[in-house]
Amino acid sequence: MFDTVLIANRGEVALRVQRACRTLGLRTVAVHSAADRDAPHVRHADIALWIGPAAARRSYLDQAAILFAAEVSGAGAIHPGYGFLSENADFAERVEAAGRVFIGPSPESIRTLGNKIAARRAMRDAGVPCVPGSDAALPDDADLLGELADRIGYPVILKAAGGGGGRGMRVVRDGSGLADALALTREEARQAFCNADVYLEKFLLHPRHVEIQVLADQHGQVVWLGSRDCSLQRRHQKVLEEAPAPGIAAETIQAIGTRCVAACRRIGYRGVGTFEFLVEDGAFCFIEMNTRLQVEHCVTEMTTGIDLVQQQIRVARGERLALAQDAIRQRGHAFECRINAEDPETFAPAPGRITGWELPGGPGVRVDSHAGAGTVVSPYYDSLIAKLVVHGDTRAEALARLRVALDEMRVGGIETNLDLHRRIVRDPDFEAGGVDIHHLEHRLAQERGA
Ligand code: ADP
Repeated sequence: MFDTVLIANRGEVALRVQRACRTLGLRTVAVHSAADRDAPHVRHADIALWIGPAAARRSYLDQAAILFAAEVSGAGAIHPGYGFLSENADFAERVEAAGRVFIGPSPESIRTLGNKIAARRAMRDAGVPCVPGSDAALPDDADLLGELADRIGYPVILKAAGGGGGRGMRVVRDGSGLADALALTREEARQAFCNADVYLEKFLLHPRHVEIQVLADQHGQVVWLGSRDCSLQRRHQKVLEEAPAPGIAAETIQAIGTRCVAACRRIGYRGVGTFEFLVEDGAFCFIEMNTRLQVEHCVTEMTTGIDLVQQQIRVARGERLALAQDAIRQRGHAFECRINAEDPETFAPAPGRITGWELPGGPGVRVDSHAGAGTVVSPYYDSLIAKLVVHGDTRAEALARLRVALDEMRVGGIETNLDLHRRIVRDPDFEAGGVDIHHLEHRLAQERGA
């Protein structure tokens, strides 16, 4: 089995994956763009290879360059991190065809679950509850379309089968705008995702975003590792996450977790994965599955005590899961704040050189970051500069620690969303727990009006 892992990513996740590899005694290969020459994971790597200029298309998304780097460095496996090539079935296939291990699910799983219509069908067949909606790509025939939407009931949301990153969705309030909305969404989907298939779901008005983490080995053993709540979002982008999802009965979560495990067995899933649900009035409705490590995996690690990345690498090596479901517990509570380099007013990315960097500490505090004083935040990539993760025995204790940690943290030289996080953790509704996916935007609108 492999002893060297090429990390096809950058930023905090490249460092996170590298730490897991090194604790397992594996050698690491960093591939980096011209902008990331001085990144910590590049410095710590056994081998560092320059693969192209700053633009991701010509470096972190350049499949041929990455495959060539794996060949010359003798890396037996490639870890894609999140984003970039992590959910690209063609890339996973090319890695396997080159005789290397793709640290992730099979290309077939990535392909099926990356198509939201196919994923819905697979979940429905496996007994996982889905948002009411269409089970096939929508027809252009206006009568058929109208009938379908009437049956589901307005408002509905049109979604691109190949969509992602919060794009390719359009809400329709009544029948009059349906056909035009479909034509627009279809055209956008064709251009953005090279797939013109669009489907329809009931648009839920006040849902929470709750997800279930799973982990599967190659021998049919699957476990679920509790819940996370990611309802604090702006423009469908997660801002702050927590685990477990507050205020949901343990039996309800348990029932859903068990269904997710059954679904994984049925589709022969391997590696880490996340089932995303919208939860309204106590009902769980599947929306999509992410076939990779997620940014917010740390809150699951803090509450279960399990190193998810290490587990991910172990199962990719063909090891059997050493975790038994009844021994997995979520202990206490954890929060994660995504600290971004961004303008506090416009939320636009705010790249630049970091001149001051003071990190919080104390019991239960973890900061995952590739940044520090002197780091240049590049305009070419995601604006995430750090993940502040805090654990406590109870939600109240974790929240109290988070407030202190956010007050201690200082980033100089660039603008960040630290202040936004400081306001969120003092919001009485957030403190009570269980806010819906619109809460943050409503709060921001109120602030602007004040
Ligand atoms: P993406 O793959 O682009 O992230 P998702 O299907 O996960 O798309 O949906 C992203 C977000 O869009 C959800 O977290 C939720 O805020 C909103 N959303 C998606 N489907 C619905 C729905 N049926 N009703 C209400 N909101 C929805």
